[in-house]
Amino acid sequence: MATNSVMTQVTKDVTPARVLVIDDEEMQRLLARTTLEQGGFVVDEAVHGAEALERFRKDVPDLVLMDVRMPVLNGFEACKAIRQTPEGRHTPILMLTGLDDVESIEKAYASGATDFAVKPINWLIIGHRLSYMLRASRAAEQLRISEARLGNAQRIAHLGYWEWRPLDNELLISQEMCQILDLASGTQTITREEFLARIHADDRDFVEEALARLQEERDSSTTEYCLAGPDGTKKHVVQQAEVLFNQGGKEICYQGTVQDVTEHKNAEEKIRLLAYYDVLTGLPNRRSFLEQLGMSIKRAQRRDEPLAMLFLDLDRFKRINDSLGHSAGDELLREVASRLVKIVRATDCVGRPFSEDSHRDDLVSRFGGDEFVVLLSELNRVSDAASVARRLSEDLARPYEIDGQTVLMTASIGIAVHPNDGVGAESLIRNADTAMYCAKDRGGSNFQFYSESMNSSALEQLRLESQLDEALSRDEFELFYQPQIEISNGSIVGAEALLRWRNRLDELIPPANFIPLAEETGLIIPIGEWVLHSACLQATRWHETGFPELRMAVNLSSRQFSKGELSTVVSAALGEAKLTPDLLDLELTESILMEDREEPIRCLQELKSLGIRLSIDDFGTGYSSLSYLTRFPLTSLKIDRSFLAGVPTNPQHVGVTRAIISMAQSLELKVTAEGVETEEALDFLRQHGCDEAQGFLFSRPVPAEEFYELLEKNRRRDDDRIAIAS
Ligand code: C2E
Ligand code: MG
Ligand code: MG
Repeated sequence: MATNSVMTQVTKDVTPARVLVIDDEEMQRLLARTTLEQGGFVVDEAVHGAEALERFRKDVPDLVLMDVRMPVLNGFEACKAIRQTPEGRHTPILMLTGLDDVESIEKAYASGATDFAVKPINWLIIGHRLSYMLRASRAAEQLRISEARLGNAQRIAHLGYWEWRPLDNELLISQEMCQILDLASGTQTITREEFLARIHADDRDFVEEALARLQEERDSSTTEYCLAGPDGTKKHVVQQAEVLFNQGGKEICYQGTVQDVTEHKNAEEKIRLLAYYDVLTGLPNRRSFLEQLGMSIKRAQRRDEPLAMLFLDLDRFKRINDSLGHSAGDELLREVASRLVKIVRATDCVGRPFSEDSHRDDLVSRFGGDEFVVLLSELNRVSDAASVARRLSEDLARPYEIDGQTVLMTASIGIAVHPNDGVGAESLIRNADTAMYCAKDRGGSNFQFYSESMNSSALEQLRLESQLDEALSRDEFELFYQPQIEISNGSIVGAEALLRWRNRLDELIPPANFIPLAEETGLIIPIGEWVLHSACLQATRWHETGFPELRMAVNLSSRQFSKGELSTVVSAALGEAKLTPDLLDLELTESILMEDREEPIRCLQELKSLGIRLSIDDFGTGYSSLSYLTRFPLTSLKIDRSFLAGVPTNPQHVGVTRAIISMAQSLELKVTAEGVETEEALDFLRQHGCDEAQGFLFSRPVPAEEFYELLEKNRRRDDDRIAIAS
């Protein structure tokens, strides 16, 4: 009974264990089967080694009980053969040998047997023996599985393990550690010296110190250092280590993990480079320059030292791109960058490309396009800045070899000095920029110090003009949106797209400051086309996110009518955005209608036939002639914001506003009031039957994301109102 209970205990929690009994004597097999089956085993039989192998492959047993002496294939051979199969590598094999047959016992172990039992067999206890073998084999199997899992986890995490016992000066290392250290696979131990030799020379002392500190402080430690591969490659690793002490307080063992974080470090470095460095030239970009400038200014203030900022712009750089192509332009910019760094460094100031680190403040940076800035600190005299500028100017004028061609290029340089020409970063940059335009105005290829007289309007005009010229290609325009409200219910029914220009100094310039210039230079045509496309796409995006009826108003300049392609441009914008024409509202000024030319009239008719809405903007400020209102296919009037400023306090303003509303009503035109800033004005408009309103009372023009929030808020408000009403 006792026998069975032990065996049941072992086998009850798993499917019954299968034993393969291999013996040529039938009686032995019968005895084995009877006792083992009673103990809960499933028994298979084979009469010799060859049959055993066949059975083994077909039905892999959990245990093998095998006689040594058998015909065809004896026990030793069979045992060896089983060990060579993938399934049989760890199967427990109990060999039955003759009494005192020491040679057989040795041979049995040599052929891979797990254990042996001496014949004659006590069949009552052999069951116990097998059960314990099975239990041990399962425990070993579990251990192998966890070891494999641990190994996998360490491999996936690039995590190595080491153990160092100072007494034997040997480091025991895991498989992954071996990999990390670039040692021959299978290496299990190395000396401490060998380990230290793998550490990058710059970090070796530091790692040794960290280990020494570990011993003193009796704590765990985390260190980051580099390993040097045999081919000189660097590996970044993070090491966690601790030390174990014996009862006498003496350290007996250090142990630690080493994780290879090179990929992570590289990715981090890449992100840092992208965020702070210009990809083309490797110079710090504008963002890192601005951060650095702020700190440099503070330091200069503390030390009471001058700081000079040089703003460089290449003269007529565009012609290189246009004539030789962009890759030649890029190459030229790289060469310019490298000359700048060299000169600035040679003049006792340090340009700092990303591979180097310096504690000086001097900095060369690419601001974008063909503009570079140089910051000079620790100047003895302000005139030092002039000598640097002179050298820069001379050196940049040396011929360039680009694509096998000799190219000539010069630069215009503006200099602003802190604190005389500006205390804050912004004013310093702006004034250096203005001085640069002054240098351009004088024909380029020279440098100018900033002076206050430079803020003349002529210079400002020049500055604006040349910047505006590139604004579109540099993607510097943005659209803001202002809601148009239906007065009767307060719902947002439309958005007016209003252009903004974020120039390279990161200033947000309102349209009044650049649209007249864009009109003068004709740039308004491509800019206006960009506005149309962007606004239509934005409208569609809002339609798709749950506001399918929102109207989009876009301002048109009279110059856009003069080319006669406007309706094609508008159709293309609608087509690209898949926008329904009656959700586009084009705002025109009266001047377009007053022109006595055929072209605009034809153009308006074409637009109208597309189904687009047409509104007169700033109504009341121009001719306000009734006759043209009736001649053109208009949809609505927008009362100019100057009138609303005096509503309801100024009787004159009130009178004009009322007149415009009633005139629009009689012409069956919709009417929108612009510049609504007060509740009083809104009440007045409501009383007089004005349809829509737009103004700061509801919202200033805002970026698209904020406009979306306004839409959401407006919808929640509408939903609440409907809920209350029902
Ligand atoms: P607009 O079409 O009459 O645009 C309305 C202007 O009034 C906007 O100025 C807006 O910010 C301002 N405004 C709105 N509500 C109020 C208010 O309650 N009080 C006051 N004081 N002002 C308010 P913004 O954005 O500076 O635009 C100025 C003008 O620039 C526009 O006048 C329009 O004529 C022109 N513009 C804007 N974007 C474009 C465009 O994409 N193309 C063209 N051709 N012209 C544009
Ligand atoms: Mg407008
Ligand atoms: Mg207006």
